[in-house]
Amino acid sequence: MLKVYNTLSRKKEVFLPRSISKRLLRGRPKKGGKVDIFVCGPTCYDFSHLGHARTYVVFDMIVKYLKEKDFNVFYLQNITDIDDKIIKRAKAKRIKPEKLARYFEKEYLKDMKSLKIDSPTKYARATDYIKEIISQVKRLLEKGVAYEIGDGIYYDISKFKDYGKLSRRTVSQAEDAVSRIDETRGKKNKGDFCLWKFSKPGEPKWPSPWGPGRPGWHIEDTAITERFFGPQYDVHGGARDLIFPHHEAEIAQMEAISGKKPMVKYWLHPGFLTVRGEKMAKSLGNFITVKNFLKKNSPRILRLLLLNSRYRSPLDYNEKLLSQTKKQIERIDEFVDKLQRTKNPTPGQARCRAGKKQKKNESAVKSLILRTRKKFEEAMEDDFNTPVVLSSIFQLINRANQLFDKNRLTSTDAKEILKFLRKIDKAFNFIFWGKRVSPKIPSFIKKMIKEREKARKRKDWKKADEIRREIKKLGYWVEDTKKRPKIKRIA
Ligand SMILES: [Zn+2]
Repeated sequence: MLKVYNTLSRKKEVFLPRSISKRLLRGRPKKGGKVDIFVCGPTCYDFSHLGHARTYVVFDMIVKYLKEKDFNVFYLQNITDIDDKIIKRAKAKRIKPEKLARYFEKEYLKDMKSLKIDSPTKYARATDYIKEIISQVKRLLEKGVAYEIGDGIYYDISKFKDYGKLSRRTVSQAEDAVSRIDETRGKKNKGDFCLWKFSKPGEPKWPSPWGPGRPGWHIEDTAITERFFGPQYDVHGGARDLIFPHHEAEIAQMEAISGKKPMVKYWLHPGFLTVRGEKMAKSLGNFITVKNFLKKNSPRILRLLLLNSRYRSPLDYNEKLLSQTKKQIERIDEFVDKLQRTKNPTPGQARCRAGKKQKKNESAVKSLILRTRKKFEEAMEDDFNTPVVLSSIFQLINRANQLFDKNRLTSTDAKEILKFLRKIDKAFNFIFWGKRVSPKIPSFIKKMIKEREKARKRKDWKKADEIRREIKKLGYWVEDTKKRPKIKRIA
């Protein structure tokens, strides 16, 4: 039974989406069932970085796994295309905020496609739901939990007694944290947040009953989720730093409007990603965009690197981790390639011996797959413990390679292993399934190889080794054969 760690209860809980809980109440079987999941999308004012990649690869894996378990998943993501950061950046670039937001939205979607993230059912732009946002602000005013001051409409956190239940902060702790960010004069409580901002001259604006303005950040999510899921749904996800104030504010808004709780049954928050031990920041020069990473590395490497640590734990990105992951991908690639090329119909040694041995080999592979499948399922059901899954895959590779070496792995065995790997890869997406073509060798590498050949001819082995090392650093492996050197792309 799948268990997930819920930030709301700070516990691992059995995953029972609302559709199944309802069915159980009516005494119906709990197979399948609908799962509504919402994950905070990007604010479109800059390129996505490795931290974003972590959040979205994790939820892509989770959604794909749920689909594999026959859940009918609706995965909704918002796109923040109006926001203070967007307006500020657009001003600096002397372009319209809308133009800036559309550009970075497109870049975001391109990055997601490169990372094989194709699980979202719907991307919803905030500015397409202004009507829904206004309706929520209106209802909050009617309920008396919101009020108007000079620059906009604010939420009164003292009117919501559950405020702080997700982040486990008291109202005064919350106020301390917020006061540094938002010092607007005239607010009833320091921690009150903006629902609707009146527009300043030259800023984007939409008409509303209270005058032209634009939505606050927190209200767009609840307006969008209410439109698609209603006031209550199954899963809300997002990076850990969104717990407060963003997700706390969402609960305050939706639960005050509907009077129903909880708004969300399970809150899932992936951990932080640091680079070489530090928080990623442009000022520190350690800001790695997805685009830059993919210029030098394959997307499969990033997926494996991100899924090789527990999604809730902090993850530090560094060169050592990257080179380890490259080696792992190389091992997986070689293994899959070998399996795909296996034409051995019967185990070599068993052919001339009794059929007993053949049977023994078959069952060895079968039990190997069964064992790994069991580990896969147990690990995934334990709050998506992907590192355990990956280590069991490497164990399978080790064991199967031993059988290969003894020429005891048949093409049927190979097919069975491939079938199993395909199943796992549906959620992980780090295995290359296409036909392998010899890589196009860039001309500067070819030039280095020629130079190395010259050195070899004059028996300058030191120089030849030096060049080989240089070539390896650039991602290619040179193997000397009788005729000519063979070149292989390392990752
Ligand atoms: Zn959000």
